[in-house]
Amino acid sequence: MRAAFPDFRLGNVLATSFTGTLSERHGDAVERIPTPHRLVDWLAVNGLAVDSCTTAQLDLARELRESIHAAATAAAIQDALPASAVQVINDRSAQGRAAAILTPEGKRQWRLSSASCVEDALSVIAADAISIIAGERDGKLALCASPTCRAAFFDTSQSRTRKWCDMNTCGNRQKKARFIANQRKNPRSAE
Ligand SMILES: [Zn+2]
Repeated sequence: MRAAFPDFRLGNVLATSFTGTLSERHGDAVERIPTPHRLVDWLAVNGLAVDSCTTAQLDLARELRESIHAAATAAAIQDALPASAVQVINDRSAQGRAAAILTPEGKRQWRLSSASCVEDALSVIAADAISIIAGERDGKLALCASPTCRAAFFDTSQSRTRKWCDMNTCGNRQKKARFIANQRKNPRSAE
């Protein structure tokens, strides 16, 4: 029987979807890629299919993830980028050999140098992180308002006033908490 693993949170920005594979960093942290196989699953969902992944490659992936998290957090609060995180992001970006392919339908796909090359997939994620941290894309890095989350996310809303990394999780929880708090304050209004 296959063990149940925590679901992935899917966003539309590759780098921050990747950092979201560890959630609730300031609460009860949830590891969403606990095994090499789950990293393979995550990569497949994100258009970076690989055949296999070793424990060492999973370690590389997690190191990259935490480096992106650290650098994106620093960028969000306009702090200096941590040198060690920058080094890891650059190493992963430089190590992989992924090619951008244009499909006949006009979509972009990634072609990795071999089906076992997790490093190629990580280079695509690292390059994505570089583009948002360097401010090359239309949007702004911000930190989730949930005190147990504080995830760095890429706000592409017109007003740049998004508060939560994810409306379906952090945003909803916050709304519910506010609703309960209001009910306590004004018990009659809920009747
Ligand atoms: Zn959040």
